[in-house]
Amino acid sequence: MINKSDKVKHINIAIDGPAGAGKSTIARLTAEKLGYIYIDTGAMYRALAVYFLEKGTDQDDEAAVSAAVKNADVSIEHIDGEQHVFLNGKDVSGLLRTEDVSAAASKTSAYRAVREHLLMLQREQAAKADVIMDGRDIGTAILPDADLKIYLDASSEERAKRRLAQLKEKGLPAESFGDIKREIEERDYRDMHREVSPLKKADDAIVIDSTDMSIPEVADEIERLLEEKRSVK
Ligand code: C5P
Repeated sequence: MINKSDKVKHINIAIDGPAGAGKSTIARLTAEKLGYIYIDTGAMYRALAVYFLEKGTDQDDEAAVSAAVKNADVSIEHIDGEQHVFLNGKDVSGLLRTEDVSAAASKTSAYRAVREHLLMLQREQAAKADVIMDGRDIGTAILPDADLKIYLDASSEERAKRRLAQLKEKGLPAESFGDIKREIEERDYRDMHREVSPLKKADDAIVIDSTDMSIPEVADEIERLLEEKRSVK
């Protein structure tokens, strides 16, 4: 049975998994169907990456990044159901999806000061509404009491295929399939092997491998799992 403690007043669903597993698409769709709010935590790390890139902060220098992050105020707003990310008051939502930003977010999110900078913002969002939050450490570190935890996975080939298709669809410059697959595998390695909050399945998370599943199939499965949790006496 869903057990709501005083701390967790709203339903919280955590979706973690590697880059390109379909977390954001699935989370957005499920949130829409259930009337929940979708919180994309990767976008917050990306906003900080924009800050470091703009300031020319050396991403390999943890002390420099940890000092710089203190001056980067990230906030989010939901406008027509879409999450907008603000960096020091400026909406940077349109700047977050380049390969440079992906790589910088992956590198700098490994630093403790960067993760701590976003921790409260993420927890506050989950405390004030029914949310589906996706990221890498939501079930393990941010929302350990989430009502439902999903670990969404897919093969790196499939994830690279999806990423390439996405870039083409948006008319963005696409690298070769091999380069995209290598970048995804590098990001996975960094996310899974960092010291602070590495990407791993929470003990009580349910694994969904989406390699051979369609988006609606995964969304239906998550809804079914939520129903199941709710009906268990
Ligand atoms: O999910 P997305 O690819 O947008 O995230 C960008 C990067 O931010 C990831 O590669 C990961 O290194 C980092 N991230 C994280 N913890 C989260 C969300 C994202 O470390 N909860």
